[in-house]
This record gives sequence, structure tokens and C-alpha cells, in this order.
Amino acid sequence: LQEHIVKTTPARCNSTQASLENDISGTDNKGFRGHDMLAPFTAGWQSTDVDPLIIEKSEGSYVYDIKGRKYLDTLAGLWCTALGGNEPRLVDAATKQLNTLPFYHSFWNRTTKPSLDLAKELLDMFTAKKMAKAFFTNSGSEANDTQVKLVWYYNNALGRPNKKKFIARAKAYHGSTLISASLTGLPALHQKFDLPAPFVLHTDCPHYWRYHLPGETEEEFSTRLAKNLEDLILKEGPETIAAFIAEPVMGAGGVIPPPATYFDKIQAVVKKYDILFIADEVICAFGRLGTMFGCDKYNIKPDLVSLAKALSSAYMPIGAVLVSPEVSDVIYSQSNKLGSFSHGFTYSGHPVACAVALEALKIYKERNMVEKVNKISPKFQEGLKAFSDSPIVGEIRGTGLILATEFADNKSPNDPFPPEWGIGAYFGAQCEKNGMLVRVAGDTIMMSPPFVATPEELNELISIYGKALRETEKRVE
Ligand code: PLP
Repeated sequence: LQEHIVKTTPARCNSTQASLENDISGTDNKGFRGHDMLAPFTAGWQSTDVDPLIIEKSEGSYVYDIKGRKYLDTLAGLWCTALGGNEPRLVDAATKQLNTLPFYHSFWNRTTKPSLDLAKELLDMFTAKKMAKAFFTNSGSEANDTQVKLVWYYNNALGRPNKKKFIARAKAYHGSTLISASLTGLPALHQKFDLPAPFVLHTDCPHYWRYHLPGETEEEFSTRLAKNLEDLILKEGPETIAAFIAEPVMGAGGVIPPPATYFDKIQAVVKKYDILFIADEVICAFGRLGTMFGCDKYNIKPDLVSLAKALSSAYMPIGAVLVSPEVSDVIYSQSNKLGSFSHGFTYSGHPVACAVALEALKIYKERNMVEKVNKISPKFQEGLKAFSDSPIVGEIRGTGLILATEFADNKSPNDPFPPEWGIGAYFGAQCEKNGMLVRVAGDTIMMSPPFVATPEELNELISIYGKALRETEKRVE
């Protein structure tokens, strides 16, 4: 949080720098100042001037730092520990597999039983559109990189060497490897990295509150965005556009659920020009939105799907790509001609990761996790949206167990608070002080609690949120 601390105390902003620093926890971890790790997504790449919050233990919806302080982990790690911090069945699944076969690969037609079983299970579970094959990766970024290679391979096999461009959306998050960072639509992942790669184009972010025109309904907004997408395709030449990639609900870009009719209209355009649709379900899958997959919620019929995170409840790193029969058949015949499909990772289908993921999927089904999310999410959504009247809140948005608060003046996306006021960071620090961790991105606060959160824990979440909001309101006259 310190990376967001305000350096000045402007008018209308009441807190002094000193009092803000007192509100930031973790400042007593002096022994770890200048630690050796190059921390991801952290200001100052050697972290020499920032003390990390060091998490040591997890239990249900809570994590504990090395000082023994307890925090309600409202982002479920990084939108991923759906089953909470100490699910014994996942630990047992890992231990059992480690004791039997800690590793074998899946190259050259050798493989392991857990990876075959997991592929079958995923194909059975994904019903929005029939999928034919599952390919395993170690992460969501690798899944999206794999998507690009699959799509290029597919179009080469079809004799369409020019159909190679990808369209993603502004504010999308698809990962941080070269290709997935290119697909990502956040400037921070491009600046100074010479990205995005030239084959990636970005179309509109579907954020109704921020981008709708005066008097425009959600449906009209969706129609305009679909028209803009079609114009972009026509301008570039449909014969050059290979695929469109989208998260059902945008996550790291600020939790942006699609406006009404958006995916119907976008899919119609994509289909018209023979462009593949890739659903990035890395955050949305397995119940987060109150459906097993985000595609189920928005009637998306994808050609390819990316999965990770809750696939193993993050207990082991694993991602997956699901491939439709239409795409898979083409890849199959091409790789037969070439002698092999030369793509994969040492740890593709790692047996321990697959065993843990299989157990996680079993638990989701046995415990009716989708139903459970639907039961508890109204409390989460309504409890927090009740704070929408706060004068410093611009918008509170979300669905299922995912939600963001965007702070703004005058309820308007056009009146952001000056960044140097650090409103979002201050709110985050207040949450942390009161025993709760949230994701802070500028003046947007994001949450995606574990599916196992109890009604009592959600009450605690709402209560700490309210307290932090009141403290933050006091900072702005
Ligand atoms: N896609 C989406 C929608 C994500 O939210 C993320 C990570 O947050 C990724 C891809 C990248 O996944 P990973 O960090 O496992 O590479």
C-alpha cells in the first residue's frame, strides 16, 4: 500500500502524511527491508524502500502475517483460493499424489492418470459449448499465450497465413508474459516493455458507467460497442483478424460486468467474420459469478477457453485451455502431417497439480458450490452496494462473489479525486488496520472472497468496509 501513499496534503484532503503512515501496517517488518526478492507488480523493483506484508498462514477466509495479525482475505489471494486457506482434502490429494508419483511429464504420448482424468472432467463440466480437448499450462498467462499459438497454428493449417491479429479490450487483464501482456489492455503492462505486440488490437472497454453517452441505455451502449468492433474489423480487413478474447466479467481492470446484451451483439459480429471467440475464464470459472462458468451466465459460445486460479483453488499452479472440436480437428490433422504438435511445458499436466485440481472440482460439485455462491452473494452485493450513497463513492459494481468500488467526486466518472490524495490507498490502509485485505488499484477497490465465506464473515467484511469508508470520507471535506 505504501506505493500509493500521498506525498502532499492538498486542500480538501484532511489527513497528514504522518497520520497516513501510521495507518499502514507492515512497517515494523524492518528486518525484511531491502529483501532479495524481485517482487511482482510492486513499486521499486528491488523493494528497498518498502516493507512487505509477510503472510505466513491461512485458515478458511483468513490469512495471518508473521506478527500473528489476522486478516479477512477479501480477494481470496489473487481471486483464486476459492476453497479458502486450509481445505484438508486438497492437502491430502497433493500428499497422496506426491507419495505415488510426484512427477512425470506428458510429452511424446507419455502422460499420467491425473492429467487424463482432469482433462475428461473439465470437458464434461464445460457445457456452454461442446469442447473436445484440454491442454494444460502452469498459469493463466501461459494459457493465453497458448491460445495465440493454437489460433495461429489453426489458421496456418487452413491456409490463411494472414488471419493472425487478435482483438482484446481496453482494461482487460490476460496475464503478464509477452503475449498475454500484449492482450492485456492496461497501459502499465505495456509502458517501457515495448508492448503491445503489433498483432494485438484493442477495442472498447464495456464499462457503461464510465463510457456511456448522455441518455444512452445499456442496450444502446452495447450496440455502439459492437458497431465499433465491426468498424475495427472492417478497417483492418476481416481476413487479417484471427480471434477476439474477453473475460466474461473483467477482473483486474476494475471488475466490470458486461452491459445488457453486450455478449450477444459482440458474438454476432465475431461470428459474421469467421473470428474465433476466446473466453478468458481465469477469474470467472467454477462458481465465482453464481454459474459454473462465466460463459453460462452470459450465453457465450466460445471456441476456446482459458482456465487457472480456482481450477486448483490455487493450492498448486495450474492452468488449462479448452479447445472446441472444430479447432481441435484442424490442429489434429496438421500435427499429424508435421509429426507433432510442438508446444508444451515441462509441467503441462503436472500430476500433483492435476490431482489437486481434480479434488477441487469434486468439492465444487459435491458441496453445490454454485448454489452456495448464489445463496451468499446477495448479502455481499447488497450489503456493500448499500454504501453507494457515500459522497466519495462513484460506483459500486459486481455480481456473484466479485465486486469493485470506484471512488469519485460528484458520483461522476469524469470527476476523479486527484491521484496524490491517495483515496483508494487510504481506504485500503483503513481496511488493513481493521484486519481486512482488499485489492487497491488507484481509486478502485476490488474484492472476490472465497466461496467458503460464511454469512458471519461477510457481515464482518461489510462492517470493516463501512468503517474504512467513514474514515476515508473524513479525509475529504
Ligand atoms: N487472465 C485473467 C482474467 C486473469 O485475471 C489473470 C490473472 O489475474 C490471468 C489471465 C493471468 O494468470 P496468471 O497470473 O496465472 O498468469
